[in-house]
Amino acid sequence: MVKLSLRLMANTDDNILKKVIAHAKEYGFVFPSSEIYDGLAAAYDYGQNGVELKNNIKEYWWKFMTRSHDNIVGIDASIFMHPTTWKASGHVDAFNDPLIDNKDSKKRYRADVLIEDAVAKIEDKIKKEVDKAAKRFGETFDAEMYLTTNPRVVEYQKKIDDINTRMKDAIEKPDLEALRQLIIDLEIADPISGSRNWTDVRQFNLMFSTELGSVAGDASKIYLRPETAQGIFVNFLNVQKTGRMKIPFGIAQIGKAFRNEIIARQFIFRMREFEQMEMQFFVKPGEEMKWYEFWKEKRMKWHKALGLGEENYRFHDHLNLAHYANAACDIQFNFPMGFKELEGIHSRTDFDLKSHEEFSGKKLQYFDTEENKSYIPYVVETSIGLDRMFLAVLSSAYTEEKLEDGSERTVLKIPAALAPNKVAILPLIKKDGLPEKSMEIMNDLKLDFNCYYEDKDTIGKRYRRMDAIGTPFCVTVDHQTMEDNTVTLRDRDTMQQERVSISSLKNRLADSCSLSALIKKIE
Ligand code: ATP
Repeated sequence: MVKLSLRLMANTDDNILKKVIAHAKEYGFVFPSSEIYDGLAAAYDYGQNGVELKNNIKEYWWKFMTRSHDNIVGIDASIFMHPTTWKASGHVDAFNDPLIDNKDSKKRYRADVLIEDAVAKIEDKIKKEVDKAAKRFGETFDAEMYLTTNPRVVEYQKKIDDINTRMKDAIEKPDLEALRQLIIDLEIADPISGSRNWTDVRQFNLMFSTELGSVAGDASKIYLRPETAQGIFVNFLNVQKTGRMKIPFGIAQIGKAFRNEIIARQFIFRMREFEQMEMQFFVKPGEEMKWYEFWKEKRMKWHKALGLGEENYRFHDHLNLAHYANAACDIQFNFPMGFKELEGIHSRTDFDLKSHEEFSGKKLQYFDTEENKSYIPYVVETSIGLDRMFLAVLSSAYTEEKLEDGSERTVLKIPAALAPNKVAILPLIKKDGLPEKSMEIMNDLKLDFNCYYEDKDTIGKRYRRMDAIGTPFCVTVDHQTMEDNTVTLRDRDTMQQERVSISSLKNRLADSCSLSALIKKIE
């Protein structure tokens, strides 16, 4: 069947996010946590399809980081760590967000995010001016020149630069009154109520704490880790020595992290319990910028290989460098809410190892046999949120299509290698031995590929259900199958069907759904 494919552009972005959330719940991807008790803010559970997609994303990352790079190994550190870890890392003293409340709506916001949103609005204005001019001047249009000479655009850019400078100063000092004044001067209103009646700005530590030990008096305060990275730093020497690792080398980890986020809206984009996939790359001091550029490029290639749209990614350099960094950027993704941070790449200097050396009194140095001396390595880190990656895949896969026959379908165009189920096995009718034959095919495939079996409803309805959960292939078993061992293979995206032999299925699926092939493409 020929189809007319169109992403429903009439949807507002907010609508798209709402649709993605509803779809994720209806089709077993993501449920609100403890929903029977009305849920818990910013906590979510992954359902039967969600967990498969999540595991595939993890595998894509893990295989790329640890198998494509001979000098990267993995670990799995515990969530609870000695409390001094968080003193040394700076989190006890400095893992704060500046928060501000609106007195009328009683809503709480991150002061820096309110200001960043105001900057984004001015950036949008610049973009609109550029788009308008591009239309007016046609092929002769020189965007670079326009950006530096058009008076209105230049003025917008100056405004952005001024705001950024003031925000950077206020955060670095920190000067919370200056941050509040910036919000007042920019006439920022509460996005919900429109009110400009703001409280003072206060610092808020994002770490969750609990107590270790059951006997009163023995108990000591410990934290749920707010990032996985420190588990890697404290194991630096263990891994280096037992793995006989030579610099440069990396340690990778996937695991839960916890942050008491001030505002946790926008679905799984900002959660209080989430998963990170982090890699710390230990390098010779002085070589960190080379490796920083190397990892920026590698990580961007990893993202783009998925085919979610090259235009949906961009780098964003950090204006306010964290206390430990000498260079840092984000890879931003075009989520339904706009371009936002998906992954961070940071050059962390020797801050962490040096600080752990001081606090623990243990030497955390590497003996470089080529240079015949010991030093504390520098670190370049790549840090991506698994749940944000999940949202990037899900929201860009969500497509509503109007077909040529006038009907509509919702299809998740998830990259085949990440799809929860690779193939659905569907007997055309529920008799004449077709279900048994289907089960035979399924049993042959199911250990290599996640399969789905379904024999209820019309074949058309079953295809739609598979489209809705992003299954790249449907195999239909009919009467001809019983005679010549062939089946119809339907492609999710093109909806084309072809007749293939059962014996060719394994190779067909392996070619289209292979994670290894996807990773090889990156090199
Ligand atoms: P943001 O500025 O959005 O709060 P961050 O700069 O604090 O993020 P990092 O500390 O660099 O984030 O953490 C690395 C990655 O972990 C982020 O790029 C993001 O993908 C993910 N991440 C951080 N906080 C959360 C959260 N609350 N929920 C889900 N993912 C998160």
